[in-house]
Amino acid sequence: QAKADARGGSRFFEPGMDAGAQARLSLEADLRQAVAERSLQLHYQPKIHLADGVVAGVEALLRWHHPKRGWVSPLDFIPVAEETGLILAIGRQVLAKACADARNWPSAVHVAVNVSPLQFRHGSLLRDVLAALKASGLEANRLEIEITETVMMEDTPRAVELLAQLRRHGVRVAMDDFGTGFSSLGLLRSFAFDRIKIDRSFVRDVDTHADARSIVRAIAGLGHSLGMAVTAEGVETAAQLDAVRREGCDEVQGFLFSPARPAGEIPGLLKTVVAAGLGRLAAD
Ligand code: C2E
Ligand code: MG
Ligand code: MG
Ligand code: MG
Repeated sequence: QAKADARGGSRFFEPGMDAGAQARLSLEADLRQAVAERSLQLHYQPKIHLADGVVAGVEALLRWHHPKRGWVSPLDFIPVAEETGLILAIGRQVLAKACADARNWPSAVHVAVNVSPLQFRHGSLLRDVLAALKASGLEANRLEIEITETVMMEDTPRAVELLAQLRRHGVRVAMDDFGTGFSSLGLLRSFAFDRIKIDRSFVRDVDTHADARSIVRAIAGLGHSLGMAVTAEGVETAAQLDAVRREGCDEVQGFLFSPARPAGEIPGLLKTVVAAGLGRLAAD
């Protein structure tokens, strides 16, 4: 039977289709609608530079307020967007919005944008990035692109070339969630990232588990010796902050400082986070 949804879309549910597949189809239809209406939002999470306690930049994180389900996590809808190709349109909107928003902030604040493997493979990423920079007037060196290890492992020579092109245009590139994938250290060498972000799973245990602490130390050392800045993701406690600083990380990001907030709150947040950051750094 055909089930028409409130916004006039319509979709056939096969009799044999299970509940999971139906839920997924309706999520896909709703996501398509949200993209068409441009109702996906971006929030921004500060990244704090440890040497001086200031906000060096923010990371753009997608937020979807679904009319019936409420907030849907990017962990739930990004995979759907990837599989359906919707991520290409979403990715363009994210780049355009992040660059336009960053243009309103102090020039020392950089903006990092996550890019998924399909965007990387598809071939329009460089064009999309340059278009977003041009339309917003944002300087290229204020934009950072975050990719995960998966991207490096697929079609490596092309990915290397694309990253090099981005960097030639002045855009920075960061390796996100480092340590969770299966990439080789050799790949890190061919890619020449500006930054490594240590995955939250290591940061979570850094103050309580010697093995996590060793991994954080090793990644920081490796990153620095390859000329990259090192960011610890998911810092939630003062003890974790202390530990990642001691192990040599340059920047931290996490709920201890702030979750991602709407663009309009960023200028105000820059001041309070700096104050809180300096307080925390001074406290020990
Ligand atoms: P990510 O790029 O590794 O982003 C960091 C995630 O960790 C964010 O989750 C952030 O809210 C969360 N986080 C930050 N600090 C803390 C903390 O102290 N504790 C805990 N428990 N979590 C913290 P979020 O926003 O749910 O995003 C999840 C993932 O979805 C991102 O991981 C990224 O891979 C993907 N994503 C988000 N926005 C975009 C986007 O615009 N494009 C693409 N392609 N992927 C995106
Ligand atoms: Mg990221
Ligand atoms: Mg990450
Ligand atoms: Mg992640």
